[in-house]
Amino acid sequence: MRTPIIAGNWKMFKTVKEAVAFIEDVKGKAEVAGVESVICAPYTNLPALTEAVQGTSLKIGAQNVHFEDSGAFTGEISGLMLKEIGVDYVIIGHSERRAYFAETDEIVNKKVLAAFKHGLLPIVCVGESLEEREAGKTKDVCRVQTEAALQGLTEAQAAQVVVAYEPIWAIGTGKTSTAEDAGEVIGYIRERIAAQFNSDVAGKVRIQYGGSVKPNNIREFMQHPDIDGALVGGASLEPASYISLVEGA
Ligand code: 13P
Repeated sequence: MRTPIIAGNWKMFKTVKEAVAFIEDVKGKAEVAGVESVICAPYTNLPALTEAVQGTSLKIGAQNVHFEDSGAFTGEISGLMLKEIGVDYVIIGHSERRAYFAETDEIVNKKVLAAFKHGLLPIVCVGESLEEREAGKTKDVCRVQTEAALQGLTEAQAAQVVVAYEPIWAIGTGKTSTAEDAGEVIGYIRERIAAQFNSDVAGKVRIQYGGSVKPNNIREFMQHPDIDGALVGGASLEPASYISLVEGA
């Protein structure tokens, strides 16, 4: 059985003080048996957050990682650095990074390999634009992005990957995919992972839905047998809302 995973993607929100106050508010509440709860925060918050979650079941993730361990890459942070401060997860290939920071499938793959090299678990984002959806390319886009991201992983590594299916048109728009549509795409992604690796690996990979997930729609998504959790932006920023999301999983 796959453990459902709720991950909050804070994007570029919260100072260190605000981040630590959030953890104080959700401690013991956004911790539900059988649900993994992960906060993916800006780099500056990470040392304080890994400290703040000590003794809880909450986990901390970064929102990006460079694929080299060190070097002349001004402004970048490596997996080695993230692991040292106790980070467990890292979001890789979010559509905002693909769109605004020119991340290609090849870069995403290098980052996924770098995450495993340092013992970090990747949350790999895939998903189509509105234009691609309207052109009937949703499954193709997700297949190409997923296969590229997972290339070169061992079966044991691939089984630990978390994929987040985030249709771009549903991010921050208040429009969601239906659970049925999202479940169909997610089922297809799982089939492709079975073809790339095997059905045992595909059965273990957790695949989340992301895009305008809120406390009032989380249950609908979680009821679908293929949807293993959610990657949540806006609704992960308020403690009460985040607690409801974890309870809803
Ligand atoms: P929203 O939940 O704000 O739509 O953001 C989704 C997202 O991009 C999570 O990574």
